[in-house]
Amino acid sequence: MDTASAPSVETVLNRIRSGVRNEHPYLVGAPPQADVKLNQNESPYDLPAELKAELVDTLHDTAFNRYPAEQPAALAEALAKHNHVAPEQVLVGNGSNELTYLFGLAFIEPGTPVVLPAPMFSLYEKVARLYHADLTTIEPRADLHFDIDALVEAVTQHNAAMTVITTPNNPTGLAVPPADLERVLKATPGVVVIDEAYVEFNDYPPATELLDAYPNLIILRTLSKAFGLAGLRLGYLMAHEDMVTELMKARLPFMVDRFSEAVGRAVLNHPNLLTQRVEQMQESCASLTQALQERDDLTVVPSRANFVLFTPHTTSSDALQDALMEQGILIRNMGGYPSLQGYLRVCAGTPGENKAFLDALDAVL
Ligand code: PMP
Repeated sequence: MDTASAPSVETVLNRIRSGVRNEHPYLVGAPPQADVKLNQNESPYDLPAELKAELVDTLHDTAFNRYPAEQPAALAEALAKHNHVAPEQVLVGNGSNELTYLFGLAFIEPGTPVVLPAPMFSLYEKVARLYHADLTTIEPRADLHFDIDALVEAVTQHNAAMTVITTPNNPTGLAVPPADLERVLKATPGVVVIDEAYVEFNDYPPATELLDAYPNLIILRTLSKAFGLAGLRLGYLMAHEDMVTELMKARLPFMVDRFSEAVGRAVLNHPNLLTQRVEQMQESCASLTQALQERDDLTVVPSRANFVLFTPHTTSSDALQDALMEQGILIRNMGGYPSLQGYLRVCAGTPGENKAFLDALDAVL
């Protein structure tokens, strides 16, 4: 085989868009196995065995050789009912992360003004970079809440095509009151994505109440947190039905497989399970927050989600994280965010997991 005239690997790689080449892959950066896994804001609870047994029957009845529908209509309908919106207002994705990329595809051309408050779930900034947005970042207030005054000013000044508010926010756990969401919705000429991944843990009213009044609102949700389905990959958005129709044009078909759809429907059919799990996780987060607040050496951010952000005063956060990891306890280092240097994030686990974390923390502190 004469390959002398073939381009070198480097020549071929240089054909990859600079937006991609300049990126880093998204890595959680931790071993997959750990005794106490509190680093990804997951539910500590898998589905009950009886429900899983029902789903095994579903698995038997699922035709693996047949494509699913372009959109999982029955699941979209169940989600619409769950949220008191019309099925036409719902678009289901392969996890909500996947829909974040749809926003890039739909709204961002090179130079499109995008405004993002910080600190925010890092994927949004990545999508803005991948699509060469003209990105403006709004630094948080001293108490780490989003600076809504500055955000309102920036979306107007930059004529923002898109802004995003994560509420409760990851990684701070802080939430934005509905009146402030409305201020941003009114000021933004483009779309406002309100990412409510942790909405079930928060007692503010959900943003769905604003859908009728604001056609520029897109709400993003996930079944990875309160519903405990992070391993299955189900997320969805809710928006004006005409917006959903447009987004469908850019959409990859078949992104939700038949089995995931069946599991999503089954879980939505057991509302008491969701209520019970959310109560357990809220209790866990409250007691974890209180326990951390009792430690003099820590500053703790009060959370409205299922995780807690904190910073140690006298121990380095890197050393603390490493020491916990050696004992099989995974938490997340937030030092990569300019406003969160020295901060760590721990997810609320089972009572036993929280105890193991706190015991190990005390041993290090
Ligand atoms: N949005 C926020 C704010 C998150 O914290 C996460 C998970 N870390 C996601 C979206 C992604 O969720 P999914 O599992 O649905 O992709």
